[in-house]
Amino acid sequence: MTKYVYDFSEGNKEMKDLLGGKGANLAEMTNMGLPVPPGFTITTEACLAFLAKGGAPPEMLEEAGEHLRRLEEAMGKALGDPSDPLLVSVRSGAKFSMPGMMDTVLNLGLNDASVKGLAEQTGGDMRFALDAYRRFIQMFGKIVMDVPADAFEHALDEAKHAKFEGAQDTDLDQDDLATLIERFRAIYAEHTGEDFPKDPKEQLRLSIAAVLESWNGKRARDYRRQNKISDDLGTAVNVVAMVFGNRGDDSGTGVAFTRDPANGDRVPYGDYLPNAQGEDVVAGIRNTLPLAKLEELDPVSYGELLQVMHTLEMHYRDMCDIEFTIEKGRLWILQTRIGKRTALAEWVMAFDMLEEGLVDEDTALLRVDANRLEELFKRRVKADGASPIAKGLNASPGAAIGEVVFTADEAEARAKGGARVVLVRRETTPDDYHGMIAAQGILTSAGGTNSHAAVVARGEGIPAVCGADAIRLDLAGKRFEANGTTVAEGDVITIDGFTGDVYVGELPLEESVLEKARAGDASAREEKIWGAFERLMAHADARRRMRVRANADTPDQSTNARERGAEGIGLCRTEHMFLGEERVEAVRQMIFAETPEQEQAAYDVLLPLQRGDFVGIFRAMSGLPVTVRLLDPPLHEFLPNQVELAVEVALGKERGEDVSEQERVLRKVNELHEANPMLGLRGVRLGIVKPGLYAMQVRAICEAAAQVKKEGGDPKVEIMIPLVATRPELEQMRAELEPVARQVLADAGVELEHLEFGTMIEVPRAAVTAGEIAEVADFFSFGTNDLTQMGFGFSRDDIGKFVGMYEERKLVPANPFVTVDRPGIGRMMAIACAEGKAANPNLHLGICGEHGGDPASVTFCHEVGLDYVSCSPFRVETARLAAGQAAVGSAESASK
Ligand code: PEP
Ligand code: MG
Repeated sequence: MTKYVYDFSEGNKEMKDLLGGKGANLAEMTNMGLPVPPGFTITTEACLAFLAKGGAPPEMLEEAGEHLRRLEEAMGKALGDPSDPLLVSVRSGAKFSMPGMMDTVLNLGLNDASVKGLAEQTGGDMRFALDAYRRFIQMFGKIVMDVPADAFEHALDEAKHAKFEGAQDTDLDQDDLATLIERFRAIYAEHTGEDFPKDPKEQLRLSIAAVLESWNGKRARDYRRQNKISDDLGTAVNVVAMVFGNRGDDSGTGVAFTRDPANGDRVPYGDYLPNAQGEDVVAGIRNTLPLAKLEELDPVSYGELLQVMHTLEMHYRDMCDIEFTIEKGRLWILQTRIGKRTALAEWVMAFDMLEEGLVDEDTALLRVDANRLEELFKRRVKADGASPIAKGLNASPGAAIGEVVFTADEAEARAKGGARVVLVRRETTPDDYHGMIAAQGILTSAGGTNSHAAVVARGEGIPAVCGADAIRLDLAGKRFEANGTTVAEGDVITIDGFTGDVYVGELPLEESVLEKARAGDASAREEKIWGAFERLMAHADARRRMRVRANADTPDQSTNARERGAEGIGLCRTEHMFLGEERVEAVRQMIFAETPEQEQAAYDVLLPLQRGDFVGIFRAMSGLPVTVRLLDPPLHEFLPNQVELAVEVALGKERGEDVSEQERVLRKVNELHEANPMLGLRGVRLGIVKPGLYAMQVRAICEAAAQVKKEGGDPKVEIMIPLVATRPELEQMRAELEPVARQVLADAGVELEHLEFGTMIEVPRAAVTAGEIAEVADFFSFGTNDLTQMGFGFSRDDIGKFVGMYEERKLVPANPFVTVDRPGIGRMMAIACAEGKAANPNLHLGICGEHGGDPASVTFCHEVGLDYVSCSPFRVETARLAAGQAAVGSAESASK
């Protein structure tokens, strides 16, 4: 029989699949002997069974009842006992942390009778008991019964106002709370048509069901989609004995990180809120104190907390994030997990922990996320004396410039229209998630570094400034005021998530430390992040099997790529060499040529220009392979637009002008017009139809290589023929072009050690007949842009219209133009690799589609046995890192 419920003493940290992250870590800490309140976990399997059946499996209820009985025994109290009640919290906790996306109910077990028992038990503290009760009604109403949160908030605000201007919730006394509870109960009844349930078992049953159901709530689904978390995991539910941080000034609650999650510094970090319950910290309801303040308030608990933090970090060998509560001077640990951190902190911590001997090099390498590396190269605000209008906490690094918006919906709508926006709120709630991820940056006037806004922003890599309390929001007037400056919706502001500064207008941005250090800046090279970057990248380079090349079309791009560690060019697209006034003229001459002589004359103009380009590229990449792709796009791209030209001709005629030249061009344009140019006369087909074209390009390439070789350089040339679908296409082209190359080199008296002919595999037919094609190719380079386009039948230029919906409905696990679709396109690649290698063991294999810079795709390329990946110059570091991680990851799994 399936076991649906586990006591904390029965689990451990490896059981995240079943117990969720929170449950598994609570179990681990319980078994480590840390002060965790007792409790039990209802498994994710129970959640899936619940959701499938639309109700709780009877065995689950039975088991939960049994565990509750044991919990009551352990605590020496019974749930809802009017004289000495046990209270519990019911907390969600999936395998992956989904901050604030699912539901939690606190103080469960209170009713009109047990609230008195609670007061007695707590030394007659009726105010405390009533406060717990009103919180419970509020949470239960909102979470379990969908009573609008505003209704309760509004009543609470009214109560505070009635007390005195500027009153906090802690200013409400016993009588105020008793009145408020009456009001809350009335609100509950109004919205649900029922009385607030008195029976604690009923409260528990309903709460567990609500938490399980929250797995499928909109917020949770949105979050999973954005973070690529499967819908099939389910959440666990933790039922935990309550401890109280709101029992006076010797109580409180907080969040602590064993190191600074923003910059990685090895110092404890966090927020503390005296006399409050856990949810208050995350919700940013009152501004929190920095954790260090706890040392003054309660040195004993602070010391204990530091000890626990140390124990946890040594145990998990990573930075831990801890939720704790102090109840009357006694410390309780309510949760721990591996802490989320910024991209910067991730590198600094991995490096420090490696230096400290806490982790080995491979582990340190796997600790950094290749998807976020680009963030570290992000620019910063260059303030140059500009004065900020407000300052908040530097909650998430990066600089953001955008139009001010005040609601998540507005942020989403404007961003969809192409605008850059900064979402400005008092604080955010999980309901704002869709707007937050659409914004360039987030600015809040309340809340600490662990408020919802800060946590989400850091996780998503969105710059954020939180708790900028000089900001006075006027939501009705759609504006805010800060230190005398008024900013209206639509005005542009700049926020600096590194410093917490907020500026009006668009400020200039400056290069990141890494970018400066890479360029040789001495002081940037002193910074720890540079040391971390160098050390871990060196390890990635040492571990990776695949080489990393860049897609670069010019000498400048090639130099940039080489500086970033590119080990060659995997794709030099030659089409730009046909652009520019002089060149387009010659290209048109080639297209219009009526005799071989006219065509040749055009090639004679183009040849020296192209040769010059190749010389620059071969010099920049001396000693490294350069794959040059012969012309790929359809010829009409070099001619004027058909419609515009037709209009020009018609208008000219109307005006009685001589339009004979335009008419001649139009005739040619019409002649070349294709209904479906992506599948038309392009790629190798061009080479076949216009043999002089590819011959000219091969001549230019080889003349350039000969020149660079004579200068003392070392060009390594790979000539690539695009869009091949059949072996004879490549065979015939090669038979025509290879002699041209050999002749040019012989004439120049130069020998190249490395001169290869190969093809792109970008047409499905080529992939599945790769064994035949490999016999006449020296290399394959997967053109996964076209392979994906033709494999799915998705136009790569138009997919933007529906790919979002496809992802949302999980029709594809990810945008297949970003991450290789393993079962389909990936399978074709695997077939082509295996059959190509079998037919030609010397064949070398690479990828030059956009996927070459996507970490998940790089991992796939490693697995399928490619020799290299090629990506845009700015992603070379990402690809190097991902390739190193793929090698370490596969070594790890092989040794398991
Ligand atoms: C490809 O199709 O993957 C490719 C690299 O070529 P292009 O993007 O130029 O079509
Ligand atoms: Mg292509």
